[in-house]
Amino acid sequence: MKNDLQIYNTLSRSKEKFEPIKPPHVGMYVCGPTVYGDAHLGHARPAITFDIVFRYLLHLGYKVRYVRNITDVGHLENDADEGEDKISKKARLESLEPMEVVKYFTDRYHKNMDQLNVLHPSIEPTASGHIIEQIELIKSILNNGYAYESEGSVYFDVEEYNKQDSYGKLSGRKIEDLLENTRVLAGQDEKKNSYDFALWKKTDPKHIMHWPSPWSEGYPGWHLECSAMGAKYLGEKLDIHGGGMDLLFPHHESEIAQSNASQGHDPVKYWMHNNMITIDGQKMGKSLNNFITLDEFFSGKQKLLSQAYSPMTIRFFILQAHYRSTLDFSNDALLAAEKGMHKLFNTVEIIDKLVPSEKSSIDIKQFEAKLYNAMNDDFNTPIAIAHLFDLSKLINQVNDGKETLSIKDIESVKELYNDFVVEILGLVSEVDNNSNDHLVDQLMETILTLRKDAKLNKDWSTADSIRDELGKINITIKDTKDGAEWSID
Ligand code: ZN
Repeated sequence: MKNDLQIYNTLSRSKEKFEPIKPPHVGMYVCGPTVYGDAHLGHARPAITFDIVFRYLLHLGYKVRYVRNITDVGHLENDADEGEDKISKKARLESLEPMEVVKYFTDRYHKNMDQLNVLHPSIEPTASGHIIEQIELIKSILNNGYAYESEGSVYFDVEEYNKQDSYGKLSGRKIEDLLENTRVLAGQDEKKNSYDFALWKKTDPKHIMHWPSPWSEGYPGWHLECSAMGAKYLGEKLDIHGGGMDLLFPHHESEIAQSNASQGHDPVKYWMHNNMITIDGQKMGKSLNNFITLDEFFSGKQKLLSQAYSPMTIRFFILQAHYRSTLDFSNDALLAAEKGMHKLFNTVEIIDKLVPSEKSSIDIKQFEAKLYNAMNDDFNTPIAIAHLFDLSKLINQVNDGKETLSIKDIESVKELYNDFVVEILGLVSEVDNNSNDHLVDQLMETILTLRKDAKLNKDWSTADSIRDELGKINITIKDTKDGAEWSID
């Protein structure tokens, strides 16, 4: 049951049994953000999708090396190797060093990911930190005859590659259609064909970031970093490569081509892609003015939102849809998600108070099987959540005396909740997470230290009055041989 995981592979367009190349090790690579702006809902979805994959594989006992990169150079404004580098442009507009932009938005991205309870990847490499590896990769593609130099830049020769392998096998695009659909842009005369993509770009004088190479002073093409860093940290063939569907073409298609052109085989066993988020049925985007950052969700300061939504509500909302379905955001959908999530957390509190019976009227094992079946079916979180709601309903009926659970089954229910709600879905009750709890701990420590000092000074009346006053607000102090303990009644 635990090892029947099926993953939908974008490359084969079918669900496949998950069999890692070198079990128990799993190598997973996910394309991270280009850090030139605040993270929004479109960033939260892939981060949470692959956090679930990471968490579930860990839960199944795999040793996962999870690499999620940061793109800090080479991502141009459009996919046709045209326009300015996104980070350079931001740096120029704000009169900052590009690395100041990178640091600022990387820190903010990390903060948002922590708020969403997204586990940290094992390695988080940057494109600018792997220029040498990328130059080596270009050399090998050139040596194998799948790239050409033109005016100091190096381009991938799609036509030459297509004679051996199929450029378009991941996205389903055909090279003939690509030719028709590509607009003629300035600078294109450097390329043999419009669909060829840059491996190395000679520096435009406007470009602030550049490095020396055998061809020119310049910078690597965007698709190259993931091929170079994936191979460096996870080997020439890795298990899972993930990202948003918007990266399918040209980014991931080109990654496959680059790896085949340099190493002679596909770089990835399972390709996974999460679908997009729409807002009230429309594509989300800056130009449509329906673009909501995560900070705006958390503060509620955005005209489309009626209130602030906690990071856990956003996480729960995303998990309520299967990652391969589109997810439509609306304020009402978020309100419903918030309500549902509270119901789930309330059940956790009820479980702690359940009175055991001799015998159980509920088959807990059956719930366990259903939950694993849902996750094993290509990480079907909405089905898993539906089963958790069913279980929650029954637990409430046990609490009302309509159903019964044995002491052993109450323990099993606790374990199931902990495994699926906390560990696998990564949902933590915000009350537990509340920084006020931490503050109370610190305050009590201070108060108990003052009381200890009073006792050392034989000031019994102060020591007693501290104890009595705390007693009035239901905090009990118990003296122990090492000092004192406290509890809230
Ligand atoms: Zn990538």
